[in-house]
Amino acid sequence: MPAAEKDPCKPDAGRWVPRIDRERCEAKADCVAVCPFDVFQIGRLSEAERGALSLRGKVRAFFHGNKQAYAVRAADCHGCGLCVKACPEKAIKLEAVR
Ligand code: SF4
Repeated sequence: MPAAEKDPCKPDAGRWVPRIDRERCEAKADCVAVCPFDVFQIGRLSEAERGALSLRGKVRAFFHGNKQAYAVRAADCHGCGLCVKACPEKAIKLEAVR
């Protein structure tokens, strides 16, 4: 999806970043589809990331091919909140950049 036109009512990039809860994400890719700034990609959990999950998280990840969403271009986030609303697992939160 091409980058959205700048909306004067939305904050500039660099003020918010999406945080993905590794215990909840199931790689359904709704965030990839809705983000106007191509912030997300689906990737595979590293061994260290899998190791850090709870047992429930490991089982959940296993049943989804150990794939999850990654905010590969987090610096391009404009804080619109579309990904937060779209995620069926409530796995995304926006965090203010300090
Ligand atoms: S808040 Fe908006 S711009 Fe930021 S990652 Fe989510 S959908 Fe993309």
